[in-house]
Amino acid sequence: MELTQDFDAIIIGGGICGAGIARDLALRGLKVILFEKKDLAEGTTGRCHGLLHSGARYVSTDPQTAKECAKENEILRKIATHIIDSCGGYYIALTDEEANYGEQFIEYCTTAEIKIEEIKPEEFLHLEPNCNPQVKRVFRVNDAYIDPFLLTYYNALDAKQHGAIIKTYTSVEHLILTEKEIVGVRIHDTISDEFMNIYGKIIINATGPWSALLESDLKLKNTLQIVPTKGTLLVYKKRLVSSVINRLRKPGNGDIIVPSHQSVILGTNAIPVNERELDRLKTTYEEIDELEHLGEELLPILKSARLIRYYTGARPLIKSNLFTENSHQGKNSIHDSSLHNSSRQFKIVDYSDEGFSGFVTVFGGKLTIYRLLAEKVSDYVCHQLGIIEKCSTDTTPLPGADLAYTKEEIQEMFNINEQRATDMSFKWGSFVEEMGNLCITCLDSAKIDPNIEINERNKNRIICECEKVTENELKWVREHLFVQKIDDYRRRTRQGMGVCQGQFCLFKVADMELQWSNKTHIQIMEELKEALEERWKTEDLVDQLQKRQIKLAKYMYILGGNLL
Ligand SMILES: Cc1cc2nc3c(=O)[nH]c(=O)nc-3n(C[C@H](O)[C@H](O)[C@H](O)COP(=O)(O)OP(=O)(O)OC[C@H]3O[C@@H](n4cnc5c(N)ncnc54)[C@H](O)[C@@H]3O)c2cc1C
Repeated sequence: MELTQDFDAIIIGGGICGAGIARDLALRGLKVILFEKKDLAEGTTGRCHGLLHSGARYVSTDPQTAKECAKENEILRKIATHIIDSCGGYYIALTDEEANYGEQFIEYCTTAEIKIEEIKPEEFLHLEPNCNPQVKRVFRVNDAYIDPFLLTYYNALDAKQHGAIIKTYTSVEHLILTEKEIVGVRIHDTISDEFMNIYGKIIINATGPWSALLESDLKLKNTLQIVPTKGTLLVYKKRLVSSVINRLRKPGNGDIIVPSHQSVILGTNAIPVNERELDRLKTTYEEIDELEHLGEELLPILKSARLIRYYTGARPLIKSNLFTENSHQGKNSIHDSSLHNSSRQFKIVDYSDEGFSGFVTVFGGKLTIYRLLAEKVSDYVCHQLGIIEKCSTDTTPLPGADLAYTKEEIQEMFNINEQRATDMSFKWGSFVEEMGNLCITCLDSAKIDPNIEINERNKNRIICECEKVTENELKWVREHLFVQKIDDYRRRTRQGMGVCQGQFCLFKVADMELQWSNKTHIQIMEELKEALEERWKTEDLVDQLQKRQIKLAKYMYILGGNLL
């Protein structure tokens, strides 16, 4: 597909919603192009917990979203098996008030048709020995962890395999209007620094919290009612819990802990921000302090655990949904609990009221219900274009999920230990075969086949020791999952996400990128610097041990290696 042709649909934004819409429309046979100004999933999507909600979190404040979460949870378990950790989840009461809330919780869950089961605190503590032993009441729910990055990449990959074009590092600068019709977009390829006009029958604004910025070209009387609301998450070393732990009360700060690969994520809070701040969201010491304090109530072991990183994303909340019956806030005084209790429904806005055609914005929602959101937007687009094609994303497996091998099969296939087989199977599903039969055998030196040539071994060496990422995995994602810059490998493979935060692998990745691409040394050094700075930006607020780790990395790269 050429960029100069006319497209059926132009999608702006490569978070989970944009990628999901691209997939849905491409599966229906439409000519689609997607523009993302940075890397796919670099916005809110890559900054969430990755909690595949059971729905229970929203039963008290938003039963419709709760029901949708429960239904989509079931669907995603079928179409994205390879990137879901079916770890389960619990709601736990730590105070008498929370224990009493249990009765209401049961009622809410029954009304919203969310499956829960009460279990004895002793049974729970046997399963989760690190949790607070004062726990008074426990409910088991159908929560899970889903890798938000890979979910986005596999959606985009499937869209591409069905003819869509996915352009990352390409920002949409303006909408192109003729009279009252939006006919295209003005794009800026930030890598080649080229500008271009692209035309399409319908333009879909899926830029999440950034949505209102694009609308400004239309000079509307009634602008989008979005409140970008930031939330901060803390990442701790080690899988300190094996399931999702939620606090048994209405949603609030610091009440979720999610096991994510070999770490745990604690979240979150809710603070409104200005749209202009979205590209440089800041986290404060007070936020981290509050989250740590609340997290330790659920999981006392966090006090001595190593905080390796924190990050902040912004939800695109719908303003009109902010003031629920539980909220006593005036219009200009939004505070945390009203934001936590606001609806997570999504909204599709066309601009016919203002006399415009050819443009639609979608915002709100959750990662868990992205597929449903994409289906509704795609139904709307097809209706507008007079196309009668039904959605098939609820039954069509994502790439890699179609023939996912069991852990045992992978163990046998590659002669590796159980943990490595779990990691491989979790990220790559049926693509493990493509990663090459040799990519794991070298992980355990005792198991290296002496007949394998040394060069072959090197190709399959581990590049990231913390997360055990091999060269083959990096090569494979480069070829298939839209890698453009050095920092992009991290989001796809977890390279550089461990304790050393890229200290001992980023220079190796830079070396490989130099070999694999036709970039100059200067370009490689710039990308390496960008990737390192991204890892180091949390230095001020992490704990002492992690601070020392980052300092060491800085000495190594800046002083020792004279690299930056
Ligand atoms: C702290 C936090 C925790 C969360 N936890 C969960 C959770 O555990 N489970 C869950 O289900 N949901 C969770 N959510 C909600 C979930 O993350 C969001 O609903 C979802 O990721 C939104 O996706 P999106 O595609 O709409 O937005 P985004 O992922 O932000 O995508 C929008 C994209 O548009 C791009 N863009 C912006 N302007 C332009 C432009 N002009 N040109 C080109 N591209 C542009 C941005 O770079 C961005 O990548 C959480 C949200 C937050 C903030």
